[in-house]
Amino acid sequence: MKLEIDVITIFPEFFEKPIQFGPIKRARDAGVLEIKLLNLREFAPTPKEVDDYPFGGGSGMILKPEPIKKAIDSVKKEGGTVVLLSPQGVTFNQKLARRLAEESQIILICGRYKGVDERIMKYVDMELSIGDYVLSGGESAALVVIDAVSRLLPGALGSEDSAETDSFEWGILDAPYYTRPRVFDGMEVPEVLLSGDHARIERWRRKEALRRTLKKRPDLLDKALLDKKDLELLEEIKKEEGL
Ligand code: SAM
Repeated sequence: MKLEIDVITIFPEFFEKPIQFGPIKRARDAGVLEIKLLNLREFAPTPKEVDDYPFGGGSGMILKPEPIKKAIDSVKKEGGTVVLLSPQGVTFNQKLARRLAEESQIILICGRYKGVDERIMKYVDMELSIGDYVLSGGESAALVVIDAVSRLLPGALGSEDSAETDSFEWGILDAPYYTRPRVFDGMEVPEVLLSGDHARIERWRRKEALRRTLKKRPDLLDKALLDKKDLELLEEIKKEEGL
C-alpha cells in the first residue's frame, strides 16, 4: 500500500530539499510514499490573491478559503484525511504518527500569517499542532509530520535501523547507545554490551530505557504498557537510585 501526502503551501520550495534525504527519500524510492507539493498560489485567481485583510480589522493577513478548498478538491480521494497544521490542534505524537502512517492519503494544509479563514474547518478532519509554541507557518510543522510518518512506512528504514525500539514506540524512552571507540575521553562502554550475551544485553537495554524514562519522563510510565518483568526492573532501579 502507498501513502500519498499532498502539501498545500505558498512555499512549495520549502520542502524540495528535505524530502530528498534519509527515510523520506527511501520511502519515496521504494514506492510506498508519494509527496505532492501544491502551490496555493496556483489555485487563486492571481498569485497574489491567496490572502486578505481580516474582517473586523486587526493586524496580519488571513489565507483565503477558496484557493485552499480548490487545492483540496484537486487532489482529495475517497478516504483522504485533511489535516490543518495549527498551534490550536491536538499535539502530534508517535501514536498519531502511527495512525497517519496507516492512511492512504493525507492532505497537509500549511497556514501562514495570522492563519486560515475559519470556514475552511468544514473540510478539515484533524487539526495538528507540533507543540505549544507559534511558528511563522505550517511548513516546518508539516515537515515534522512527514518525517515522523514516512519513517514508519515499510522500506523507509534500512535493516540496520528500526523504529521498533525508538522512544515512545513502547510508551517509554529508548535505551542509551554506544559505538566505537571502546574508551572515549576516559569513559568506557558498559561491559555488558561487549559480552556477546544477547539475553543480558536485551535485559540491560530494557532496564536502562526504563531508568531514563523514570528520570527524564516519569509521566510516560503511568501510561506505558509494562509487564511483570518491567515492574521488577523498575523496583531494582528505584533501589539503585535510592528512590
Ligand atoms: N494566529 C494563529 C494562532 O495564534 O493560533 C497562529 C498563526 S501562525 C503565525 C501561522 C501558521 O503557522 C498557522 O496557521 C499554522 O499553520 C502554523 N503553525 C504555527 N504554530 C504551529 C504549531 N505549533 N503547530 C503546527 N502549526 C503551526
